[in-house]
Amino acid sequence: MDKRTFLKVSALTVTGLALNPFYGCVKTEPSGEPEGRTDDFTLPALGFAFNALEPHIDARTMEIHHGKHHAGYVRKLNAAVKDTKFATMHLPEIMAQVTEDDAGVRNNGGGHFNHSLFWNVLGQGKGGEPTGELAKAMTSAFGTFDAFKEEFSKAAKTRFGSGWAWLSVDDAGKLFISSTPNQDNPLMANIVEQKGTPILGVDVWEHAYYLNYQNRRGDYVASFFNIIDWEKVAANLTSILQ
Ligand code: MN
Repeated sequence: MDKRTFLKVSALTVTGLALNPFYGCVKTEPSGEPEGRTDDFTLPALGFAFNALEPHIDARTMEIHHGKHHAGYVRKLNAAVKDTKFATMHLPEIMAQVTEDDAGVRNNGGGHFNHSLFWNVLGQGKGGEPTGELAKAMTSAFGTFDAFKEEFSKAAKTRFGSGWAWLSVDDAGKLFISSTPNQDNPLMANIVEQKGTPILGVDVWEHAYYLNYQNRRGDYVASFFNIIDWEKVAANLTSILQ
């Protein structure tokens, strides 16, 4: 990557990725300005009906997951940032600055960010394989799509307890797979081993799949590949690297 691209990736990672359509959806101001958040965080609307992802994710799970779990993270995040240095920061900046000492902001800010990304990359009748620049980046990083799928699925299935598996872009613009516990994510530079900007994530908390799959996390992860909207994932990558 040339210097200009590197600086752009670094700047976007730090300031809040204003050009990214996903980051647009988690910000509360439409201006794209990275600083000066004045409104409370709000629960983003799902872009589809609760039953849109059936049979892969059932409507009741979606309703509870979005309306109770994600809503709870948003509510608790607003309480946790109140009267702190995080109060006027946008979510990506909070992720970049949060530490292990900020438990409420870490858990609920991560919860809000992670679920917002999760809903953004899911869609009815999706799946398949990526094309274009994302496909090229995947080939460069993993060799083949199947190799990516195997490594990503393994990260999701072997995460002990609750957490997430991620496909992210590092500061050199290269894709990598990682897994984080609880509601951590790769933007949490002070917490994670490998820092990056996630473009795809899968929630492997039991609340994401238990009604339909019970203990069969592997089946849920396999099903997840049928509802990934690769165009959204590709848009996330493009907006980070452009
Ligand atoms: Mn969840």
